Amino acid sequence: MYLEELELRDFRNYDQVTLEFSPQINILIGQNAQGKTNLLEAIYVLAMARSHRTNNERELIRFKAKGAFLAGRIKRKLGTIPLEIALSRQGKKAKVNHLEQARLSQYIGNLNVILFAPEDLALVKGAPAVRRRFIDMEFGQIDPKYLYDLAQYKAILKQRNNYLKQLQQKKAQDTLYLEVLSEQLATFGAAVISKRLTFLAELESYAQEIHSAITQGNEKLAFHYESNLKDILDPDESKTITELKRGYANLQSKEILQGTTLLGPHRDDVSFTIDKKNVQIYGSQGQQRTTALSVKLAEIELMKHKTGEYPILLLDDVLSELDGARQTHLLKAIQGKVQTFLTTPGLSEITQRLIKEPKIFHIDAGH
Ligand code: ATP
Ligand code: MG
Repeated sequence: MYLEELELRDFRNYDQVTLEFSPQINILIGQNAQGKTNLLEAIYVLAMARSHRTNNERELIRFKAKGAFLAGRIKRKLGTIPLEIALSRQGKKAKVNHLEQARLSQYIGNLNVILFAPEDLALVKGAPAVRRRFIDMEFGQIDPKYLYDLAQYKAILKQRNNYLKQLQQKKAQDTLYLEVLSEQLATFGAAVISKRLTFLAELESYAQEIHSAITQGNEKLAFHYESNLKDILDPDESKTITELKRGYANLQSKEILQGTTLLGPHRDDVSFTIDKKNVQIYGSQGQQRTTALSVKLAEIELMKHKTGEYPILLLDDVLSELDGARQTHLLKAIQGKVQTFLTTPGLSEITQRLIKEPKIFHIDAGH
């Protein structure tokens, strides 16, 4: 799939632009603070109906404007899909084929994106929340049911945490209601965990192949799902439900004391090992980067495998962060297959590595 045309109105520092892109490689060149990342962010918002760098959507609306509007034309194997997002202080509207979508899980998945920014190099080293977010964003695009289960899980988690606080402050006494919430939380939690395990195993096998190619077969990468639950490696959902419920029963007094839910996929993590050693702890900077790159490139392949089409790739200032060998692997993995948008302060040796002439956009203060 690829993004053929993008129109922005009052998005970040763009007042009004319409851009036509190459289905291959698009290079956004510009000095600092001109709007390169803003443009990638716009494409991300068009795909995910949310930003990758802020939860406060008002920031996306151009200073002093009432609302922001984004529209894109997506070319897919089966035809053209117009997507629209309108943001205002009242909220957000998302349209597919000019029809408003009541559920965002219905909207997401029409345009699949993978974003690779310098902070993704921290995928290995960063906080667990970084990895959870990465998993949820990627798997959510592949499977709307995953997004739905996750949204339900989060809603119940919020209720349950509120209720635990009430119990903690003795504003409520009834633990029966807590058990009802635990039961619901366990059901959606198990669905989320089970999908994560399945997808992670698939992602791992792609990442292993790529990692092995980059390291010339010298290193073996592996993924591990980390959870407080025992027996978690079994993707059998009913077993996980039972385990979660048992966990909540055991933890009840501790959870009431702390006023929060201590068990479930919102606390889980993923770790990476190279030759059985944890990369986060023992890996060199280079190994951590190679791992992050392998994971990102694996996502491209997993998405292709799951949806039948390659996603589009957004590279924000990453090429300059990678050495020559890693750049070559990256370009080899995408050229001729994946529509790519990459930002750079100036044309450098990158373009000499490309097989086809890229389309170049000079970004200057939102124009
Ligand atoms: P760098 O090379 O430093 O990463 P960049 O070209 O990626 O730069 P962006 O992050 O895309 O820069 O754009 C930053 C500019 O956008 C800043 O000057 C900022 O003031 C402006 N900006 C951000 N949000 C808004 C907004 N809501 N309205 C108007 N301008 C905004
Ligand atoms: Mg930038």
